[in-house]
Amino acid sequence: MNLDLVYRQAVLSVAGNPRVEALIKGRARSLVRRYVAGETLEEALRAAEALEAQGVHAILDLLGEMVRSEEEARAFQEGILVLVRALAEKPWPKYVSVKPTQLGLDLSEGLALELLRGILREAEPKGVFVRLDMEDSPRVEATLRLYKALREEGFSGVGVVLQSYLFRTEKDLLDLLPYRPNLRLVKGAYREPQEVAFQDKRLIDAEYLHLGKLALREGLYVAFATHDPRLIAEVKRYTEAFGIPKTAFEFQLLYGVRPEAQRRLAQEGYTVRAYVPYGKDWYPYLSRRIAERPENLLLVLRSLLGG
Ligand code: FAD
Repeated sequence: MNLDLVYRQAVLSVAGNPRVEALIKGRARSLVRRYVAGETLEEALRAAEALEAQGVHAILDLLGEMVRSEEEARAFQEGILVLVRALAEKPWPKYVSVKPTQLGLDLSEGLALELLRGILREAEPKGVFVRLDMEDSPRVEATLRLYKALREEGFSGVGVVLQSYLFRTEKDLLDLLPYRPNLRLVKGAYREPQEVAFQDKRLIDAEYLHLGKLALREGLYVAFATHDPRLIAEVKRYTEAFGIPKTAFEFQLLYGVRPEAQRRLAQEGYTVRAYVPYGKDWYPYLSRRIAERPENLLLVLRSLLGG
């Protein structure tokens, strides 16, 4: 296992400790401001507007995950519907991301499906695309079932995510081919055991390129969601070499991460979207960003020591 992965796994496991959570929540304001657009929908829409002015489109994400009651799941559905209605008024490309566990997947798959269906019934006619984010490995199977069920019901404005760190992903991609999915490809952000996931960054990166090229060759629309300059350069090289048009894929990055690269890619004529999270439940999202980048942990530690 390489050091990157040891670091990531350690942060994700410590971040789950309630005392660490309380400490970080009190002291990580500057990091929150960097990665999260705000606590309200208005702040998120303002951030989206500013991105649009730079040629970067927004993926709005109402933060929330792993809900423990049906009321919470329904409240999140309502929050997402409010977002969908607000986006419908906007002149820009309209796009939201949702997490299945935010809509009650851990309580019942039927509940998550019902709530997703409700979202798509409003979103599709308004031209709002809905991406199902992919969470940790125990939820992958159910999330893929939700995606397939929605497609079988006739919804088309919905997309799925695959993670290159999981051993199972190539098979999942092949199984999905008959659905012609709009695919987001990521490396994967969760702490996964060595029984199910590559632990070595080089293998995860190689798998990422292998899966991305396979998906492009199969004619799928691929959203390459990565900040990795090496992978982005290789996607550009590969698509140019094989004459794959810029309309057949896009790049996605996170709000606050490599903003200059986001603008540059957009200027080069690529479709670029930034994932814009907002809401009060920012802690799990922020923990994953700290796990991705040791400098972020140093910022938190410095603010703790600074008193
Ligand atoms: P890394 O190898 O982690 O990073 C490459 C370089 O990018 C780093 O050297 C650094 O320069 C820069 N970088 C990376 N992360 C940061 C950061 N936090 N802050 C500053 N610089 C950074 N994961 C899921 O499991 N499920 C999802 O549904 C999902 N959706 C995503 C949607 C989008 C739009 C994006 C961009 C990511 C998503 N992810 C998701 C997260 C993803 O799995 C990775 O954890 C994350 O993108 C970091 O990996 P990387 O590809 O950027 O490469």
